[in-house]
Amino acid sequence: MSQKPAITLSGVSKSFGATQVIKTLSLEVQPGEVLVLIGASGSGKSTVLRMMSGLETVDDGEIWVNNVPLHDRKRSSEICGHVGMVFQQFNLFPHKTTLGNVTLALIKARKMSPSAANQRAMAALERVGLADRANHYPSQLSGGQQQRVAIARALAVEPKIMFFDEATSALDPELVGEVTEVMRGLARDGMTMVVVTHEMGFARKTADRVVFMDQGVVAEQGTPEQLFVNPQNPRTQQFLSRVL
Ligand code: ADP
Ligand code: MG
Repeated sequence: MSQKPAITLSGVSKSFGATQVIKTLSLEVQPGEVLVLIGASGSGKSTVLRMMSGLETVDDGEIWVNNVPLHDRKRSSEICGHVGMVFQQFNLFPHKTTLGNVTLALIKARKMSPSAANQRAMAALERVGLADRANHYPSQLSGGQQQRVAIARALAVEPKIMFFDEATSALDPELVGEVTEVMRGLARDGMTMVVVTHEMGFARKTADRVVFMDQGVVAEQGTPEQLFVNPQNPRTQQFLSRVL
């Protein structure tokens, strides 16, 4: 019996002004899969993530997330509860504690009681190894810790899918490992993840599948071994020779 994909993109296109940045792209993500998107700056990686999470509309084609069509506006709010997103910028509220940052959406958007929200938030902070920093303010945390708080904030809504858009790109090199380690933990726990990253080490170790995007299309995809050891497309080879 084949399982239903967690995410389906079917013939998706997207233009900004006169420029078509995503060109009839079709892609499936299976439940529990870790899909890593790589490609040059401007190739459309963030746009794909933003469309998958409902932050960006599509011009053509369809996207389904957990069997909910994103074009069905009546049901689009369901998607928000299914997905969590982590960006390059942590965007924590500086005047709120770690716990306050993680509980905010639970209390404001989910209308959870403060005590229920605190419980949820502490469980999420436990998962990223920061339960002991619950009462610290962002300025008292390292960049790596702040990004782990941002991951906890996304996890606290108990998403079925997590999106990461260059989550380690703003970090000093010595802080990257603690964040990728948290991401690896989520992958091990079976979280469905779509990850845009320049950390090829993470892609090699953690990805089930690597997709190389080039000018708005999937130029090549495969297992980390296939893509990194034996890339077939000259564009992939050229890209990898620059980043590896
Ligand atoms: P990547 O994440 O791979 O660097 P993006 O998806 O951010 O690529 O961008 C793909 C292309 O779309 C780029 O040329 C970018 O300038 C353009 N683009 C992205 N978002 C917008 C927007 N909101 N308005 C105009 N152009 C955009
Ligand atoms: Mg991007």
